[in-house]
Amino acid sequence: MLIIKLFPCLMDNYGFLIHDSETGATATIDTPEAAKINAVLAEEGWTLSEIWNTHHHFDHVGGNLELAAQHGAIIRGPADDAGRIAGLTHGVSGGESFLFGGHEVRVIKTPGHTTSHIIFHVPSAHDGQGAAFVGDTIFVMGCGRLFEGTPEDMFESMAKIAALPASTKLYCAHEYTLSNGKFALTIEPENADLIAYMDTAKALRSKGLPTVPTSVAQEAKINPFMRAASGSRLGEIRKAKDNF
Ligand code: ZN
Ligand code: FE
Repeated sequence: MLIIKLFPCLMDNYGFLIHDSETGATATIDTPEAAKINAVLAEEGWTLSEIWNTHHHFDHVGGNLELAAQHGAIIRGPADDAGRIAGLTHGVSGGESFLFGGHEVRVIKTPGHTTSHIIFHVPSAHDGQGAAFVGDTIFVMGCGRLFEGTPEDMFESMAKIAALPASTKLYCAHEYTLSNGKFALTIEPENADLIAYMDTAKALRSKGLPTVPTSVAQEAKINPFMRAASGSRLGEIRKAKDNF
């Protein structure tokens, strides 16, 4: 059985650990904060065996060297980014898969936020519903800033996520939900699902609870970037969000 732990890190990042109870294999998805990750490992009694990086930004790789040195963990991440991800030992590319404690993990390339951003899809997580660790590609009701890629890149990346099974849980790397929602309502003010979900999100956040994970099915209803009909439309919406 696979267990996923989510915990806040830094200002608004989430840290994630995935643990295979049969083999004891444990991976951290990105390394926003080594001390927090170590605290959760200790609390659960897990030993870190792997680090999976989605992209090279500091809030995703900052703890790589410390954690790898401490635990002897391997580091998987985009092969294209070998020059800018500290400690990378296992470069992976979109379309490849690897085994984690006997479970298949599929690597999907999702350029847009960065040119070599990847996400990790674990189809057997959550009793076969699947989980995807999506880094800064998609957020609840939002998408990552286009630092390196084009709107067309992000449009295709969104389409890849939308094509995953609808029940797939999406583990976004930041809690941006309330501000994303405020913006999303300016794009789709009459979207009843969006309006209703905002109440849910506000209630969760007022209790200090995460809105992550979301799901493919939910984002298909409420995420204006996933719902954009074209790359150019996504680009327009992203530009408006940058100035919001
Ligand atoms: Zn980033
Ligand atoms: Fe980030």
